[in-house]
Amino acid sequence: MTVRTRFAPSPTGFLHVGGARTALFCYLFARRHGGEFILRIEDTDLERSTAESVNAILEGMAWLGLDYDEGPFYQTQRFERYNAVIDELLDKGLAYRCDCPKERLDRVRDMQMAAKIKPRYDGHCRGRHVDPAAPHVVRFSNPADGAVVVDDMIRGRIPFANDELDDLIIRRSDGSPTYNLTVVVDDADMGITHVIRGDDHVNNTPRQMNILAALGKAPPRYAHVPMILGADGARLSKRHGAVSVIAYRDQGYLPEALINYLVRLGWSHGDQEVFSLDELIEVFDITDVNKAASAFNSDKLDWLNQHYIQHADPKRIARLLSPHLGHIDIDPSTGPDPVDVVQAQAARAKTLVELAEISAFCWRDFDDYEPAAAKKHLRAAAHEPLARARAELDMLALEDWTDAGLHRVIERVSEALGLNMGKVAQPLRVAVVGRAASPGIDVTLRLVGKEATLRRIDRALDYIAARAPEA
Ligand code: GLU
Repeated sequence: MTVRTRFAPSPTGFLHVGGARTALFCYLFARRHGGEFILRIEDTDLERSTAESVNAILEGMAWLGLDYDEGPFYQTQRFERYNAVIDELLDKGLAYRCDCPKERLDRVRDMQMAAKIKPRYDGHCRGRHVDPAAPHVVRFSNPADGAVVVDDMIRGRIPFANDELDDLIIRRSDGSPTYNLTVVVDDADMGITHVIRGDDHVNNTPRQMNILAALGKAPPRYAHVPMILGADGARLSKRHGAVSVIAYRDQGYLPEALINYLVRLGWSHGDQEVFSLDELIEVFDITDVNKAASAFNSDKLDWLNQHYIQHADPKRIARLLSPHLGHIDIDPSTGPDPVDVVQAQAARAKTLVELAEISAFCWRDFDDYEPAAAKKHLRAAAHEPLARARAELDMLALEDWTDAGLHRVIERVSEALGLNMGKVAQPLRVAVVGRAASPGIDVTLRLVGKEATLRRIDRALDYIAARAPEA
């Protein structure tokens, strides 16, 4: 048997991180078993489905690198097939037409509520012959007794009594098929062997299994993935911050960091934290996913992102950094090679947005000094070391504007003034970067370049001169 999984989002919004985790699990399970992964767009809700959100889903999947072997299939292109199946069920007496008016359904419901019975359709039209030409819906004839057991790969056995399940509507009065029917037909037609989806669907599963049985099909295996919670224990939603995969990309996260983070939410492998996609394909097992919901922890995502920024190929990081530099109006062709900047700065940034921000000084003069850094390092005592360094740097030939050449200058100035190197390097750093943190001073000056270094030292000297004398 070839394992076949599917990710079946409804295109009614962006690709949510919860959906992305489900997609990842489907992907990993298929890849692990040498199987196939299918993308199916469940766009039957015509009012809520948009082309924009189909694009957002495709874009999110592509960015995460979750490539599918088949699809995207669109349910709206399969209405004929669904209707043929519904007609077949009608012919076999496994479904029936129902023309109960809303008032009757409301009345039944009120009576059931008053009697503290779970509200459900009472089967009134089961034995009736409703005129096919008159307005009606089609209901599935759910077995009246017995039970359905969902043998879930994550949650174990979950029994459902048939008399708790409704004769659910499978075709609306406008002729359109409903969710439980379309999913069943697609899962059967597409040869899906393992349905991995959010646990908000767990109550649909016995209904779907009954429809499958009516069609003479064996059910797939099911795995219902627990939801993701926010730090406050409520279901993860917009008010907890970004929930769309593309928002994470735009905030400067790497796809491998998000993948690694999402897989670890509710799944572990010893105490290993960092996994490549290939490694995950080897070790991930859906049966090891926790039953309980897990809470989203952005510190941990930041930690992983920083790890990947630091360990990825600097050329790739530089390429990914480019749009983030663009957002803060930096044209990287006007200064140092971004690859050099990435090499110097990668260990300092949690996101590409932060990497762009803390590296802006390499391409343009900063606006203001960080007050604490200026207060501490741009004081009268720094005037001489800065002035000396400026004079020496001015004389340094461009071909010596290297880490080694710059290091020698700082060393010479410190020796000449009898100061430790920090007393020269820190004022220089604040002068050139605007704050007290940056890579080594030699690397910093190399990246900033001679002209900007001298200009910024002049600015710092003016700043010191204009500063009120220290008490
Ligand atoms: N289209 C459904 C959703 O987005 C998923 C259906 C399924 O996986 O069976 O919630």
